[in-house]
Amino acid sequence: MAEGLFSDQLWTSAPRCVKVRAPGKINAFFQAGPLRADGYHAVASTYLAVSRYEEVAVTARPGTPATAITVSIGPGSSLSPQALAGIPLDTSNLAVKAALLVAEIAENPSGVHIEITKHVPIAGGMGGGSADAAATLVACDALWHTGLSREELSQLGAELGADVPFALLGGAAVGLGIGDELTAALAPTPLHWVLVPADFGLSTPLVYGALDTLRADAGIVAEEPVQVEAGVLTALRASDPQALAPWLHNDLQAAALSLAPSLTPVLAKGTELGALASLVSGSGPTLAFLAADEDHARQLAAALTDAGHEAWAVEGPVHGAAIIQ
Ligand code: ATP
Repeated sequence: MAEGLFSDQLWTSAPRCVKVRAPGKINAFFQAGPLRADGYHAVASTYLAVSRYEEVAVTARPGTPATAITVSIGPGSSLSPQALAGIPLDTSNLAVKAALLVAEIAENPSGVHIEITKHVPIAGGMGGGSADAAATLVACDALWHTGLSREELSQLGAELGADVPFALLGGAAVGLGIGDELTAALAPTPLHWVLVPADFGLSTPLVYGALDTLRADAGIVAEEPVQVEAGVLTALRASDPQALAPWLHNDLQAAALSLAPSLTPVLAKGTELGALASLVSGSGPTLAFLAADEDHARQLAAALTDAGHEAWAVEGPVHGAAIIQ
């Protein structure tokens, strides 16, 4: 009886909570131009959202001001405690920044608590922080009834980082500008991939810096990228992994490998074990291996695990940030 009473009390006094799931991403194709005067690099990127998700639960804290935003890491997170310790739990957390942006628009918002269940590697080149920001934008919009359109959420997201609009959109998309000018790409059937996370992170600005240095040392003057290779989009439209394999490309790969040479033999191992193609995801250090189909991805993940590497079979493209509860 006491238990029933407790449940009833919980039911009537439970604070409102919205839970959102947002995907990590890989870049099937990535070209970066030279360093611009504003500190950015223009890019031509093909983003793919993959089935490795962040979960963000935003709970109202009635009676507290909108600035009373707290954040914690959920106990269901699958990353190592050491990795999780690298996440800031103050206003520099991208999820907190996202909540503050929506609070500026909402009428009478309360404070909130944000719980992030992390599954996407930190500083892993998979846009995990961006996924948290995207999920928080969607959750706060629902919690505070701000009624923002996807386009408006995307504009807010772009203020937080170039990858946030894509985490909202999901699927497959071409990103131009600094990656935030998105056009959805057709990819009717998901492809199968194996991801190998690293037990360290790589700072994106550091990787871009290494790219600029490598180019300067080699006397290469990079051109401004204009568009992604058509072959990538044709292969995605056909959902044809064999056709996509030769088009996978990442300008940041050599720079990431120069900073983290231990990744090179792992890339080679994936190819040796039968991956159709292997590449560094975004600014790394997560590695992405293309498989022929779901069974092949499972076998490849098992073989990489046997070889001593953590490996996840995933599919992509998948949907962008979506409310799950
Ligand atoms: P991208 O590919 O978009 O450059 P990434 O996946 O390489 O991103 P993130 O995991 O997004 O990198 O995190 C980069 C840094 O951002 C971290 O080292 C951390 O200090 C900071 N950060 C801020 N908020 C978060 C968050 N919610 N989760 C993870 N890192 C965060």
